[in-house]
Order: sequence, then C-alpha cells, then structure tokens
Amino acid sequence: MDTDRTVSSDDEIDYSVKPDFYDSNLDDRDEVWVHKRRKDVTTDAVLSCPACLNMVCIDCQRHEKYVTQYRAMFVFNCKIKEIEVKHAENAKPEELLWPVCCAVCDTKLGVFDQDEVYHFFDVLPSN
Ligand SMILES: [Zn+2]
Repeated sequence: MDTDRTVSSDDEIDYSVKPDFYDSNLDDRDEVWVHKRRKDVTTDAVLSCPACLNMVCIDCQRHEKYVTQYRAMFVFNCKIKEIEVKHAENAKPEELLWPVCCAVCDTKLGVFDQDEVYHFFDVLPSN
C-alpha cells in the first residue's frame, strides 16, 4: 500500500523521512487484526443468573477446557464485591480475585481478576 498518497491534508508528518521503525505493512496488519477481533467477539452464549434469570452477559467466550466456565470483558446487572481484608493480605497481588455477584439476588456468579476480566462459573448459558 502506498501510504504517501493516503496522508490527509491536516497531517503534518513528513513521510519522505521515514523513521527506522516505520513499517509500511502496519496499516494492512491492523486491518486484519480488527477483522479478526470482530470475528472473535462473536459470543459463545448469553449468560444469566441461575437463581433469578437476570441476564448478566451477552458477549462472552467459553473456556476451552472447562465448558461451564465463561470469560467476559463487558457485563451488566453484576456487582463486584470487596475482597475481605484477611484474604487480600495473604494473597499475592496477581492472585487477587474479586467475587462477582448478581446485582438482583446477590448469588455469586464468578470472579473478577487483575486484568479486568470476568470469569463466570455459576451461570446459566443460552445460545
Ligand atoms: Zn440473580
């Protein structure tokens, strides 16, 4: 792809002097990545609270091995509980997991980790 021709008028970068790290394939690769991401976010299931059937997630990924486990980045009608101090003191920072509960009936559904990913264990999946 000829990047020089696609530079917009308000772009002040001089592409005639390319920095060493400049990669002319970058745009193409980004595009592929975006398409891949869009494909990847196709949800494996819609997750609901097993106790009150409150819907908590419509965009999740099923665990490769543990098929009753799901991970998700975006959830709703959930609340993250504070870790009890006595547990937090004993855990290494990377091991800290916050309990995630249903916002309607308070049933524990899974945990929230350091990478801001939700892991659901006790949920009702439907496709
Ligand atoms: Zn519930």
